[in-house]
Amino acid sequence: MKSIRLRPGKERSLLRRHPWVFEGSIDRGRADPGETVRVEAGDGRFLAWGAYSPQSMIRVRAWSFDEAERIDADLFQRRVAQAVALRARLPIASDAMRLVHGEADGLPGLVVDRYADTLVAQFLSAGSERFRASITEALLAATGLARLYERSDVSVRKLEGLEPRSGWLKGQGATELTIREHDWRLTLDVATGHKTGYYLDQRDNRRAFADIVRDFGCRRVFNGYSYSGGFGIAALAGGAEHVTSVDSSAPALERAQANVALNGFDASRHEVLDADVNQTLRAMLEAGRGFDTIVLDPPKFAPSAAHAERAARAYKDINRLALLLLEPGGVLLTFSCSGGISAELFHKIVAGAGIDAGVDGVFYARLGAAPDHPMTIDFPEGEYLKGLAVIKR
Ligand code: SAH
Repeated sequence: MKSIRLRPGKERSLLRRHPWVFEGSIDRGRADPGETVRVEAGDGRFLAWGAYSPQSMIRVRAWSFDEAERIDADLFQRRVAQAVALRARLPIASDAMRLVHGEADGLPGLVVDRYADTLVAQFLSAGSERFRASITEALLAATGLARLYERSDVSVRKLEGLEPRSGWLKGQGATELTIREHDWRLTLDVATGHKTGYYLDQRDNRRAFADIVRDFGCRRVFNGYSYSGGFGIAALAGGAEHVTSVDSSAPALERAQANVALNGFDASRHEVLDADVNQTLRAMLEAGRGFDTIVLDPPKFAPSAAHAERAARAYKDINRLALLLLEPGGVLLTFSCSGGISAELFHKIVAGAGIDAGVDGVFYARLGAAPDHPMTIDFPEGEYLKGLAVIKR
């Protein structure tokens, strides 16, 4: 077993069970991609077993902090079974859910979603790639399912020196599926959809949005960055009269229309705009359009803290425009899924947008990712999705 020796003082984060070792913390030692290494402190003390990734800034991801634990197929069986068992205890109002959420489930670099009878996996690090066969077996055993599609066609794999890959790992057949979420149904395609097909992390916020629409009597809805229409369906279910879905992806909007029809809502209650949200908000302000509620769920503007400043301006701008466009008494539901923007910073950005807009707002709710996207107490990077519901005075 190869050892990776850390520089003096660099053991602190592993001692706090934070699972990453950055390139700059390493004094000596190297290994092959994904190879299991013993990570030790400057004095040789054991810290963790981890997966070495020679090209990544995150040079080692810890599999275990227990020296007696072996990193083998059994470990993956146990970890996957534990992740699946946790989901079975969580209140998840859907037959689609995240079964494995990387670091938070003790499986760094692995994401697995379940859509009805189909599993979709992303192997995102050299370590999870190395144990792909064991992980696949563990997933099929823990769920009893027979279909597993791989969506490792993600740009972060490049940072790990891995090529993109996708296709059936087990089973075959249609990649277009229908899932149930709360009281509605949605279609998605695990081969071509964003991420693994759908944004599962927003499940509970869609429910919250349906409630807001009903409780506040919102009639006209602007669903910015709609993707396949999840928040729009929620709004229609909550009694909205009309939803405008805006996204820059034509296939996503087509699916949004299909999802509106699938749930029995009249097509006249839903319009789609294949456009940039920022520009659309401006155009609608100029045209004097009004909305009772606005959702802003943009893509990651800040993939890391280094992009935070530019991203903060972009977030502030769309939120400012949305606050202007809202009717008094209307509700803004606004999100950031940027790891580089903390909850506190996001709060400040939205507050700044209100000041610039000359609009006074009341925070109505703070929102986060659904519980099947758990966050552990040792890994603050796990908190990526933050949302705020703001009532315009
Ligand atoms: N709210 C969605 C998820 C949104 S993900 C849901 O609940 O499922 C972000 C979406 O923003 C993607 O669908 C992407 O196509 C879209 N997008 C990215 N940049 C955009 C832009 N500048 N204007 C409009 N849409 C954009």
